[in-house]
Amino acid sequence: THLPYFCRGEVVRGFGRGSKELGIRTANFSEQVVESFPSDISTGIYYGWACVGNGDLHKMVLSIGWNPYYKNVKKSVETHIIHTFKEDFYWATLSIVIVGYIRPEKNFASLDALISAIQDDIEEAKRKLDLPENQKLKEDNFFQMPE
Ligand code: ADP
Ligand code: MG
Repeated sequence: THLPYFCRGEVVRGFGRGSKELGIRTANFSEQVVESFPSDISTGIYYGWACVGNGDLHKMVLSIGWNPYYKNVKKSVETHIIHTFKEDFYWATLSIVIVGYIRPEKNFASLDALISAIQDDIEEAKRKLDLPENQKLKEDNFFQMPE
């Protein structure tokens, strides 16, 4: 397994996969970052820690999946940070550590079912990240470095 997985890179514009209508925004990593991921890492939903630029560390949920926009030839890696930001942060540097796996990608019968699954993912992420072994990762030198 590849976890915990530390990674840092640029936030780019996504392709409107509907996160706005879901009310769950996801910061998309640049292609360069996605290509640097281990190619055998499982697709699905993960939890971990994230910080934007030199900002505070926050809990996050992350999806690794196949981007339909590219006819499924390119993976996308998208981070939903569990925090309310005053402003968007396109082109900023996002630093994350992927801590654990929640579930595989799924298709949902309805938008409501999808939204409630994501809410469950967020609750699970919050609980898991409160565990002492996962709190410890916040102190990692990776997050102490300047941009
Ligand atoms: P896109 O398709 O461009 O990724 P989204 O609707 O997924 O559009 O919104 C993502 C953008 O929203 C991020 O790049 C970031 O600038 C901004 N944003 C604001 N709050 C958050 C948050 N809590 N988590 C992730 N991105 C956020
Ligand atoms: Mg997005």
